[in-house]
Amino acid sequence: MRVAMFSAKYYERMLLDELNARHRHEIVYFDAALEPGTAPLAAGFPAVSVFVNDVISGDVLKQLSAGGTGLVATRSTGFNHIDLRAAKEHGVTVVRVTDYSPNSVAEFAVGLLLALNRKIPRAYNRTRDGNFELGGLMGFDLAGRTVAVIGTGKIGRIFARIMAAFGCRLLGFDVHRSPEFEELGGRYGAAADIMAEADVISLHCPLTPETHYIVNARTLASLKRGALLINTSRGGLIDTEAAIEALKSGLLGGMAIDVYEQEAELFFKDLSSTVIPDDVIQRLVSIPNVILTGHQAFFTREAIGTILETTLVSISDFENNRPLVNEIHARSSI
Ligand code: NAD
Repeated sequence: MRVAMFSAKYYERMLLDELNARHRHEIVYFDAALEPGTAPLAAGFPAVSVFVNDVISGDVLKQLSAGGTGLVATRSTGFNHIDLRAAKEHGVTVVRVTDYSPNSVAEFAVGLLLALNRKIPRAYNRTRDGNFELGGLMGFDLAGRTVAVIGTGKIGRIFARIMAAFGCRLLGFDVHRSPEFEELGGRYGAAADIMAEADVISLHCPLTPETHYIVNARTLASLKRGALLINTSRGGLIDTEAAIEALKSGLLGGMAIDVYEQEAELFFKDLSSTVIPDDVIQRLVSIPNVILTGHQAFFTREAIGTILETTLVSISDFENNRPLVNEIHARSSI
């Protein structure tokens, strides 16, 4: 099947070419993201594949459908960038990668927490400059601390398991209770309540209208002073301006984020020779107790291999009218 692969990075192309030897799709790679302006490039391709910062709006889906595209395969778990109602309306099937190394993201969240709490990036920069002072590098023991896990799905549960091994007390918020989380000693409560009790808050729920700004001025105001916030899920879960105010007042003791609500214009690009026009991100990177990474939590060999293979299998299944195990329906709540 002819496949238009948008937002295709060189590290994906090499692996895709290798994996595709078995599927024999005719893949055309585009550096560009799929958005209204680039949708005409997909004309004549029955399948397109996209990534998290492509914009699969009603307008794009209308253009795709008119150009003969019947399948959108997102190389991600999250699908908040796809208008599922419009996809249904235009007869476009949408698939995602439901399952790929949740360890990749959970382990990265733990890495961010350790780096933030123990100030490892600051220490690294200091020693490279011959500065072996310890002032400003003090953290706290994680053992015995309370960790709030917002979203106890596949990633949240692995994160919780690792935190349990550190000796942390676990609190959780989810629309569905997980027996596995409870077996770890996790106790469920309302999002605002468990955030108020926690020393560490880690976000692992999808971005939906219900979870948008789940961390906001109100929830931040009731935090335990000095709590740490980790976000490896989606930028829109945090009201960034409110978080900056909480960092300035010291209510929030630090924030480590792999995702940012305005990341679509910035992430996955080298902008190091330009003046970045986003003042909020400029402020974020200037705050010493903020760590920002560019949506790399999923980026392990294991995860990329599974993401690409699952995408190719979905395209083959679509081509051969086989059931699509990773199809997303408009009524899906996540
Ligand atoms: P999952 O579906 O296994 O878990 C999500 C959990 O969130 C589920 O338990 C679900 O019940 C819960 N949930 C859904 N709606 C909710 C709501 N309104 N309030 C509270 N909880 C709700 O998904 P996962 O594989 O654990 O992934 C979680 C999220 O991580 C994804 O949605 C995605 O946004 C993000 N993610 C980020 C990266 C990265 O590289 N940074 C990579 C993969 C996934």
